[in-house]
Amino acid sequence: MVFAPPPWVPQLPFDPPDSIPICDFMLEERYGRHPLGYSHNPFTCGLTGKTYTSLDVKERVDWLARGLAKELGFQPNKGSEWDKVIAVYAVNTIDTLPLAWATHRLGGIQSPANAAYSAAELEYQLKNSGAKALFTCVPLLEVAREAATKSGIPENRIYILDLPEKFTDGKGAPKGMKTVDDLISDGKKLERLEPLNWESGHGAKRTAFLCYSSGTSGLPKAVKISHRNVIANTMQVGTFEKPYRDTIINDLRNQADYTENVLGLLPMSHVYGLVVICHVCVYRGDGVIILPKFEFASTLQAIQDHKISTLFLVPPIIILMTKNPQVLAKYDLSSVWSLFTGAAPLGQETADDLQKIFPSWKICQGYGLTETCTVVSSSSPTDIWFGSSGSLLPAIECKIVTIEGVEITGYDQPGELLVKSPAVVLGYLNNDQANKETFQDGYMRTGDEAVIRKAPSGNEHIFITDRIKELIKVKGNQVAPAELEAHLLTHPAVNDCAVIPVPDDKAGEVPKAYVVKSLSIGLEESDRAIARDIQKHVEKHKAHYKRLAGGVEFIDEIPKSPSGKILRRLLRDKERERRKAG
Ligand code: AMP
Repeated sequence: MVFAPPPWVPQLPFDPPDSIPICDFMLEERYGRHPLGYSHNPFTCGLTGKTYTSLDVKERVDWLARGLAKELGFQPNKGSEWDKVIAVYAVNTIDTLPLAWATHRLGGIQSPANAAYSAAELEYQLKNSGAKALFTCVPLLEVAREAATKSGIPENRIYILDLPEKFTDGKGAPKGMKTVDDLISDGKKLERLEPLNWESGHGAKRTAFLCYSSGTSGLPKAVKISHRNVIANTMQVGTFEKPYRDTIINDLRNQADYTENVLGLLPMSHVYGLVVICHVCVYRGDGVIILPKFEFASTLQAIQDHKISTLFLVPPIIILMTKNPQVLAKYDLSSVWSLFTGAAPLGQETADDLQKIFPSWKICQGYGLTETCTVVSSSSPTDIWFGSSGSLLPAIECKIVTIEGVEITGYDQPGELLVKSPAVVLGYLNNDQANKETFQDGYMRTGDEAVIRKAPSGNEHIFITDRIKELIKVKGNQVAPAELEAHLLTHPAVNDCAVIPVPDDKAGEVPKAYVVKSLSIGLEESDRAIARDIQKHVEKHKAHYKRLAGGVEFIDEIPKSPSGKILRRLLRDKERERRKAG
């Protein structure tokens, strides 16, 4: 049975264009963006108040593209997009999106990396994506340099994204290293670039962003997100929201000091921050208040100072809020009317707790993946059911199938969720096997277990009930068990291992390792000391959210199928039973 959006969800007003780059869709008026004109301020720094109008952004994109063309030798209509990959390893800045759009203006690709990555993790991404240049920020420069050197990116191809001095302790870009502003100054003196000569279909085939996801199994993989994917998801969310925004927002707009500012805290290296906040919100005319890093007090301060009306968060931050109402009470958060959460499940109890603190807030949950270029379903503020991930967006169909592949035909029956959408990505880079397993008959296999339930309103809602795939989500960040297992095997005490998620009050879940000890380890070493050393081995080489916060447990044998596949589910079940028994 194929599930479709409820009848109240409007159809897309036009087919997502497939002949233009994202920057045209976002910056030109003829593609249906907000009617605020060029005085709208899409990006504002939440720490300093430095802001760009749409006109500033349009000009900066143009000048930056010219500066990059000269600097890197990229030309809009020369070479393939794979010769023009620019990696970004930085916390959120107000120049990150203009940089992406300038790269697209040259027919290139932006590959954003998680700012928590270690040098080795960044090196993997730089090599895997074939990046030709790297943009970073001052606090991450040393790690960026190390990774760039090891992946063959010369020092003169490392550039700096500016950050407020209060964030960098007054440190600016080192002498001789160009910043975005330097490239823009160069670009201003250069001739106009020729326009991109794209034809129908080019935007649907060409990669705009290379984000990383481990998908349903294995190591992190480069996900090819096309220009049309981003345009489609921007239109899907915008169209889905239209009925309620037309009523709720129109009422709010009549209030004297109402602003449509949203919180731009979530990392722009992940599709949630990149697509939903930086494309959907900007396209609909909101101002994104950008913060480089989550810090409880400064985030609340920014909400108060910038009268932010919509918060985009992940469950661990909401949990922190519900546990600290006395901190929340110190700030005036009365400008907020809605909160969207995603990237990991928000428990019903947490939603209830938050609603008690802020009875008027519309607490909505969205569900999506890197491979669907973000949102598949979302609650509407007019139809909220805690625990649910809401209704399907326009132009999306889904099916639920049992492990045996049988299609489920009714409500309340769990199975794997399969999604069809114009925002389903082009596939993984150079990975036929993963592509074959994930993209089948026009559907994307999510690896998530879901049920469809009928709400009292009569709408069908999606509930994500479990994760079938081998993915651990720590504070919304992806951790691939296979990546940690490969790393653990390089430790002398580890003969074999398996990594699984275990629940965690603060992070949602954290990795735990089951380890078969190597015979060469002396008896004199205590298990505790070995376990600690294994944990340190991860802490030293991997991003902090990948550390084995769930602990290390020694076992005699890792359960495996006859073909040698690790049966992580058996370990997860064992862990669940143990926890149930207390
Ligand atoms: P990513 O590609 O990093 O966005 O991770 C996508 C995965 O995050 C999904 O396949 C789910 O396992 C999980 N996820 C995202 N949103 C939700 C949600 N609302 N509820 C439960 N899990 C979610």
